[in-house]
Amino acid sequence: MHNFMIVRSFVKWQVTELRMKIYEKMKVIMLEIKSYIEEIYSQAVLWRRHFHKYPELSNKEKKTSDLVAKHLQSLGLEVNTGVGGYGVTGLLKGSAPGPTIAFRADLDALPIQDEKDCEYRSTVPGVMHACGHDGHTAVLMSVATILAKLTHLLQGNILFIFQPAEELPPGGAQRMIEQGVLQGVEAIYGMHLWTPIPRGMVGYSDGEALAASDGFEIEIIGKGGHGGIPNEATDAVMIAAHLIVNLQSIVSRQLNPLHPGVVTVGEIQGGHAFNVIAGTCKIKGTTRSFDPQVRQELLTQVEKITTATCQMFDASYRLEVHRGYPALINHKEQSEIVKRLAQDVVGENHVLRMEPIMGSEDFAYYLQQIPGAFFFVGAGNERKQIVAPHHHPAFDIDETAMTIAIECYLKIALEHITVMKQRKGLYDSENVSLSDWLS
Ligand SMILES: [Zn+2]
Ligand SMILES: [Zn+2]
Repeated sequence: MHNFMIVRSFVKWQVTELRMKIYEKMKVIMLEIKSYIEEIYSQAVLWRRHFHKYPELSNKEKKTSDLVAKHLQSLGLEVNTGVGGYGVTGLLKGSAPGPTIAFRADLDALPIQDEKDCEYRSTVPGVMHACGHDGHTAVLMSVATILAKLTHLLQGNILFIFQPAEELPPGGAQRMIEQGVLQGVEAIYGMHLWTPIPRGMVGYSDGEALAASDGFEIEIIGKGGHGGIPNEATDAVMIAAHLIVNLQSIVSRQLNPLHPGVVTVGEIQGGHAFNVIAGTCKIKGTTRSFDPQVRQELLTQVEKITTATCQMFDASYRLEVHRGYPALINHKEQSEIVKRLAQDVVGENHVLRMEPIMGSEDFAYYLQQIPGAFFFVGAGNERKQIVAPHHHPAFDIDETAMTIAIECYLKIALEHITVMKQRKGLYDSENVSLSDWLS
């Protein structure tokens, strides 16, 4: 045999040896992780139920963030509090230097009365965790707890971001970014427990995931008068009726039908007696879109149609636009990682590609700055009658879905920054990744 061939086969043998060793090691680590998840689950439930019982509205998440900060400190993380409001960050450093990736949870509840009848029902009148953010916080606290035991495997760092005020634009994400939380962070991941998907499924999307959302308020100013003498009045309620119908022509007649958009008027207030012509009438609505140009076009058309409709009936108006969150666009590479690792966790047939949703999320701001992905972990369960949609007074989650979310995060962490990952360079020609090792 030629000398070169001998060296080559020796190197190949060495690589195979090393590969086997790492493979064996990763198998042990994954078993270890499973037992850690089983172990932490009851604590995760306790945390989630505690937050559920004592929910705090957006920008008032003081006790929630105190509890999170205390726990992260007890794990030995580098903790910052009061970041962009009641935001908390915790940096977990691996045993060797390497890249930093971030995981984000949101802390806030909603102004909704909890109508469930259960031990962990909200104790705060009119305030409720009706979106599952209590679960997100408990999941990330659990992930931090487990990874703090695995720092010997980490070549790099994990930044845990607990963000306030997701439910109330302008939201907490932008403020935390302004405080520099993303500095030096290579990629970010976020997760939503999602009851429209059954427990056991994970949803990902590799592009447009959630819409841009803006709000508008219009006050039509006419002239009040006697219900029997309309010619002497300017009927604001009648003008509002025209305006609402006219606004519906924006999507149906102005917008390119291949570009999604929504105009919804959700609130109308005008008049106070059946026989009196109302002098003013207020309407409130929201616009949704993905494309930034469509986003602007919807708002421009709202103003144009309001001006023209009021002019037609000799009324004036006041228009206020409230800019909401931009569209949440996932990055391809990170979405691919989520998809692949989620398949490891729940099986290939239980990972679904999600259609874009016209809801919105301020996680969008992080994705405008650095690569990352936002994914959905199914938390509905018809058998347990956990079927209420998000923001509903009977909302609940199947708590066992938290174990799936925890495992997804752990696999993402290990995929990015394990010692094995750094050695991956050895096998670049073979394109090895965590899921290859485990399959
Ligand atoms: Zn929500
Ligand atoms: Zn939410």
